Amino acid sequence: MSRPSSDERPRILVVDDQPTNIQTLYQVLKGDYDVAMATNGSQAIELCQRRPPDLVLLDVVMPGIDGFEVCRRLKTDPATRDVPVIFVTARDSTEDETLGLEVGAVDFIAKPVNPPVVRARVRTHVALKRQADLLRSMAFNDGLTGVANRRWFDERLQVEWLRCRRNKLPLSLILLDLDHFKAYNDRYGHQAGDDCLRAVAAAMKARLGRPADLLARYGGEEFVCLLPETPIEGARAKADDLGRAVLELAMPHADSATGGVVTISRGVATASPAVDGAQNELLQHADEKLYVAKRAGRNRTES
Ligand code: GH3
Ligand code: MG
Ligand code: MG
Repeated sequence: MSRPSSDERPRILVVDDQPTNIQTLYQVLKGDYDVAMATNGSQAIELCQRRPPDLVLLDVVMPGIDGFEVCRRLKTDPATRDVPVIFVTARDSTEDETLGLEVGAVDFIAKPVNPPVVRARVRTHVALKRQADLLRSMAFNDGLTGVANRRWFDERLQVEWLRCRRNKLPLSLILLDLDHFKAYNDRYGHQAGDDCLRAVAAAMKARLGRPADLLARYGGEEFVCLLPETPIEGARAKADDLGRAVLELAMPHADSATGGVVTISRGVATASPAVDGAQNELLQHADEKLYVAKRAGRNRTES
């Protein structure tokens, strides 16, 4: 999944157990937004997890999971906690309002809804959400290479770990470290070193296939690639592919012992979050494999 971007039409999820209420809001909003609908709480949560919208308009009283509980769950899941929630409700007691704010709602709209009020409140909160997305994307970008930074990687690792655990799927990780990069800087200069990092990042990023795959700069000349729903064989193949991508840049590196061009070593680890313990063990495992790759001569994958 990529970091937040704001160049598409805002997406709004309307949740209400009464189809007529959904219809009313749909008519008010369809001109400016992509509107999705859910008629119960669990459906709403599932839709949000699959693809978080920019805003949720949420009914409070519903059979099954009520609106307050839906909001609480959205706010505790890292995958959905940044989605603003507005309650649309006929209940207007101070108690309900307090509870709504406590579980994380940003606003209330009274039922029966007044279209101009809905439009105005939705516009305001979508604008705020887009600003927050922009700030997040700046905070989560690596300034030099343009790929994700380590902070974003840490976030995604947590999200994907939980998702793969929920769905009982494997999660793979590749740690990649440029070979003899100190020598590269020493010979060609730091500016050329920076250019090299940019080229390597772009070449590897171009090889990622699925939307959930992530490449991040992990440290100085070290990258990390997160591959959700990917077993070890697939991760190994992807690691080889990323290694080839760097090799094919054919950037001269006269002081490298690996064929005179820039190369990268790869350590691969896979976990089944449903069974295994901790996320940092996965990282540690990949790091150990990277170390093995370095000692075995560099420009190779170990898993
Ligand atoms: P190895 O093959 O064992 O990984 O050797 P190495 O020289 O790549 O590893 P080492 O950790 O000794 O040195 C890493 C070097 O990467 C140190 C530094 O000069 C360079 N480096 C780290 N970050 C940057 C950066 O942002 N820009 C540039 N130009 N160089 C960087
Ligand atoms: Mg290195
Ligand atoms: Mg290093």
